[in-house]
Amino acid sequence: MEHGSKYSELEAELEKLGCEYRKNEPMHKHTSFRIGGPADIFIIPGTEDMLLGAVSACKAVQAPITIVGSGTNLLVSDAGIEGAVISTLGLKDITFSEDGRVTAGAGLKIMSASRAAAEHSLTGLEFAWGIPGSIGGAAYMNAGCYGSEMKDILVSCRHISMTGNIGEYSGEELKMGYRSSAYTDSGLIIISATMALKAGSRLSISEKMEELMQKRLSKQPYYMPSAGSTFKRPEGNFAGSLIESCGLKGAFVGGAQVSEKHAGFIVNTGGATCDDVLRLISKIKNTVYKETGIMLECEIKIVGRTVSEL
Ligand SMILES: Cc1cc2nc3c(=O)[nH]c(=O)nc-3n(C[C@H](O)[C@H](O)[C@H](O)COP(=O)(O)OP(=O)(O)OC[C@H]3O[C@@H](n4cnc5c(N)ncnc54)[C@H](O)[C@@H]3O)c2cc1C
Repeated sequence: MEHGSKYSELEAELEKLGCEYRKNEPMHKHTSFRIGGPADIFIIPGTEDMLLGAVSACKAVQAPITIVGSGTNLLVSDAGIEGAVISTLGLKDITFSEDGRVTAGAGLKIMSASRAAAEHSLTGLEFAWGIPGSIGGAAYMNAGCYGSEMKDILVSCRHISMTGNIGEYSGEELKMGYRSSAYTDSGLIIISATMALKAGSRLSISEKMEELMQKRLSKQPYYMPSAGSTFKRPEGNFAGSLIESCGLKGAFVGGAQVSEKHAGFIVNTGGATCDDVLRLISKIKNTVYKETGIMLECEIKIVGRTVSEL
């Protein structure tokens, strides 16, 4: 989208709100894959009021809105993202109540919440030590690993709608499923999440976190640019094993490679484009389907101009 007068209007509103924003912001700076063209406007509200104001300003000029947290589950188009990208990373308060409940802003790194919980001798968030996303992204995705997931601890989420109304989902309303929640494709923006933790021993909590991190580091290409597991786990199987059994471990398209360490990950070996990753995803899906009859489904979210999920 061209930066016409409607973007000037949006910029003026953001200035009034005192809200940080950047024009033509390269999304590769905001994704763990290190891939993605520019967002027309990248907005980083520092408070809930700024977020509300920013949403209403975007609506007033009909700028489409894309929400990003830490960008660790995203593949962004080389052509970038039309309209406004709103980052939640400015919302990072965390409060602990006496009954073991923790409320964290959507933009807080879930690893920071995990560490803070350990410091308060609260157990339940150890599994998240190693998941590089934000609280909002983790709630949206029902992130999980090693037998635990957000569903186990999430009590409620506050959110705003695209029309600026504040609401809350709790309990069953959260509809936590496998890598999905009531927020999936809902257009609602999670502002904060409340989690129920239990009193525990600080030492055993820290030991558990360390154990899980070591497990992760030994199996995953953790420090390579990626978006985590490319595909959802197919019923009764593992995407990584299926991909490996089809001889695709190490396969390349351009700068994108099926990780040599864990075939469930696609890594950016340097200079990979979104197009490279999409072509590699396509090759994997076609080969695995041809050889096993199983159709893999992407776990990573593909966003931006002229990109639709394969
Ligand atoms: C090395 C590595 C290891 C990983 N390991 C795991 C793992 O063990 N388990 C696991 O589940 N995942 C894992 N992931 C994937 C990723 O970290 C999680 O899915 C995480 O929860 C995504 O959070 P995020 O803030 O980065 O979300 P983003 O990638 O920014 O966004 C993901 C989706 O959530 C939406 N979203 C984000 N924030 C909000 C919000 N506040 N309101 C509404 N929608 C929102 C976005 O629009 C998008 O659709 C891993 C990723 C990497 C790179």
